[in-house]
Amino acid sequence: MKKPPWLKKKLDLKVCHTLKVLLRDLGLHTICEESGCPNISDCFARGTATFLILGDVCTRNCRFCAVKKGKPLPVDADEPRRVAEAVRRLNLRHVVVTSVTRDDLPDGGAAQFAQTVLNIREQMPNITIEVLIPDFQGDKEAIKRVVEARPDVIGHNVETVPRLYPEVRPKADYRRSLKVLRIVKELNNEIYTKSGLMLGLGENEEEVMQVCQDLRAVGCDFLSLGQYLAPNLKAYPVKEYIHPDKFEAYKRDALSLGFLYVASGPYVRSSYLAEEYLK
Ligand code: SF4
Repeated sequence: MKKPPWLKKKLDLKVCHTLKVLLRDLGLHTICEESGCPNISDCFARGTATFLILGDVCTRNCRFCAVKKGKPLPVDADEPRRVAEAVRRLNLRHVVVTSVTRDDLPDGGAAQFAQTVLNIREQMPNITIEVLIPDFQGDKEAIKRVVEARPDVIGHNVETVPRLYPEVRPKADYRRSLKVLRIVKELNNEIYTKSGLMLGLGENEEEVMQVCQDLRAVGCDFLSLGQYLAPNLKAYPVKEYIHPDKFEAYKRDALSLGFLYVASGPYVRSSYLAEEYLK
């Protein structure tokens, strides 16, 4: 599908250079690079990035995602220290850490998340920390491990409406994702929870609003809604480009359900301007 005029953002790879050098120096991955995020020039130019821990190979096969799929490498025990070092060098006030899904690990990688939060906090006591976690197959003990490290925000994206899960996220489960968000709140309701959807995969308005209601029913505080852009030709195709006015209407409707903050727009990604949600 031909992109509409509101989706013509240009990448400026020159502004990404300094941050890329730092990341390679520390042997770190970012979801910004792995996913081919269209906001990379803005975020890297501002000196922010979303760190991707637990390697760069995912055990699932979501069709919207450009991250490599297959058999991941063993967990790198030094990675939390290096993420904290990058955060210190960048002097961040807010950091987002995410991971590939590691169904091969008994705890899904929860201990690595917890250790990363602890290492960052040790380096930068006043920083706010956001983790965007996989579903850990709904394992409460794994979720508890992350909650006990006390990040400020725990995000888990539902990504799309339940009807499209079999086609778009065949190994995920919508109800299980809601359960993850519910468990976080049950374990510690002082931690903000956050979720996000990509629009333009073929969902309809009623389905989107039903997801918003489901998220509020499990106490989700923050919501992001952004336009899905297929990362490559083999990926799930874009079915619709949502007009910016429609994103605004979704924002108004979602806020009326009680979310504390809603970011909604064509280039919104769950980690884009993530510090704004806490202001
Ligand atoms: S929006 Fe998120 S994933 Fe994209 S470049 Fe910015 S921090 Fe990275």
